[in-house]
Parts: sequence; C-alpha cells; structure tokens
Amino acid sequence: MIRIHVAEAELHALVTAHDHRWLDRARQRTADYRRQGRYVEGGEFWGDIKQVYIKLQHEKCAYCESRLAGHALASKVHEVEHFRPKSRVSAWPPATGKGAVGFVPPCAVGRASTRGYYLLAYHPLNYVIACTRCNSTLKADFFPVRGRRSTRASTPRSARAEDPLLVYPLGTLDTDPARLLRFDGVLAVPRRRRGGDHERARVTIEFFQLNHQDLTSRRARLLGALWLALRALEVPGMPEDLRQLQHQAIGQAQSDRAEFAACARDFIALHRSDRARADALGASALQLAAG
Ligand SMILES: [Zn+2]
Repeated sequence: MIRIHVAEAELHALVTAHDHRWLDRARQRTADYRRQGRYVEGGEFWGDIKQVYIKLQHEKCAYCESRLAGHALASKVHEVEHFRPKSRVSAWPPATGKGAVGFVPPCAVGRASTRGYYLLAYHPLNYVIACTRCNSTLKADFFPVRGRRSTRASTPRSARAEDPLLVYPLGTLDTDPARLLRFDGVLAVPRRRRGGDHERARVTIEFFQLNHQDLTSRRARLLGALWLALRALEVPGMPEDLRQLQHQAIGQAQSDRAEFAACARDFIALHRSDRARADALGASALQLAAG
C-alpha cells in the first residue's frame, strides 16, 4: 500500500473536469439521505467518476497494489470502493467465509450497525479503486474502528474520532501507509512493535490478507528480478548502456506507477542498509518465484 498523492481541492477539480455536474448531484443526493436519515438505493452514479481514481492510482488497487489491466480494461475490473460502508456495517472479523476468519484482533474493532455511513456515500474522499478481491471479497461491509462508531458523520474528517483501524491511502487525511506497514522481503509486517500504529498495521494486514500466497508469489518475482538487477550493477566492466538500463529498472520499480512499489522501496532501502539480510531475502525470493 502506498499513499495516493492528491489534495482535496485538486480531487474536486479533477472530478469536476471529468463530469461538471457530479459534485452538485452528489450534494443533492446527500441532502436526500440526510432528510431520510439513511442510504436509499437507486440510480447510483459514483461509477461515473471511476476514471478519475483509476488515473490517480495508476490503475492499481489502493490496498494490495495489484495492477489489474490496461487502461481500456481497467474500468471493468476495478471497483469503486466506499472506504466507510454506505448502507450497513457488518461485524468483523467474519465468522465464516473468506478473509480474517478466526483472527483475534489486538484491540476493540467496533460493533456492527444496521445503518452505514449514509452521508459519505457520495463523498469523494470516501472512495478508492480496489480490485475485486480486496473490495468484494474482503472489504465487503466491514469497517473496524477502535473508538465509537459515528455513522452520522458528514465528512471523513469529522469521522476521524472513531479511530479507524484500516488505512485510507488517498490524500492526506490519514497517516502515510508506509509509516504503519513495511515489507520484510515479500511479507507485509507492522513497522512498529507495539502501540496504536502496530494494531492498525496488524488489522490491515489481516483484513486485506496482504500475505496471501496470491500476493507473496508475485512479490517474489519482483524481488528476485530486483535483486539480480542490484547485483548486476556490481559486476566489474559492465557496459555503460547496460548499467544505465539496470538503474532505470531499479528506479521504475520504486515509482508510484509500479506494481508493489512499497515492497520494492523497502527492499532497495534494505539493500543499502543491511546487505547480508537483503541478499538472503533476495535469494529466497528467487527460489520462491521459481518454485
Ligand atoms: Zn487489491
């Protein structure tokens, strides 16, 4: 997970440039929900601004950083995900099904609610694009919080007091995900050993199954290739043009556009700070990728 850089005013401008009536329609719909005191289904139109988020997120899932498809297909496989569920909140962890079944949370996770965050159904800072696995299978109607749930909040900012456990990676409302999570080779781990940030990281990792084999095997391919590129730079007498290409590949792996950029960044930083550990993890990534 990486931070998706955009300021609130810039996000509004992008939404308006894409669909000049969208924010007005959103305000009207939200006013209807406020009058009725709940979310009412029918004529949903958040999908109209999906492309804004796909572009901001470089066609990657906001949570697992998977790249799903090229530009033309991305809009079919990415889903607009409401960070705070719009119509109800289910009890988490789930007793059956997929996801964190059996996980014992390290802290309070809040109660279920028959009312969702209905005033945030059309708030641009309550959306991200997520893959089907993260959105439909794992996120569903869950939203664990450490504090008191405030489903009547009218902005994500005013809901901060409920102390959400999941990280919202878009903009600057929340902590940079890199401050909570880091990668030890292919595995996502909490950056802190204890405390509130540790709890958020543990819940986020379990919630989105960030260490599922689907993801670790793909990260292994990335780290294996990255490790070879880093080692190749040290081969004496390598032609300058090849050296430049290796540098370019290593640079690209860390960019916001790259799949699993957070994992690549931490591995490259480790390669600088603890060479023996990076070599061990690189070799095991190569093995994992091969096997
Ligand atoms: Zn995902």
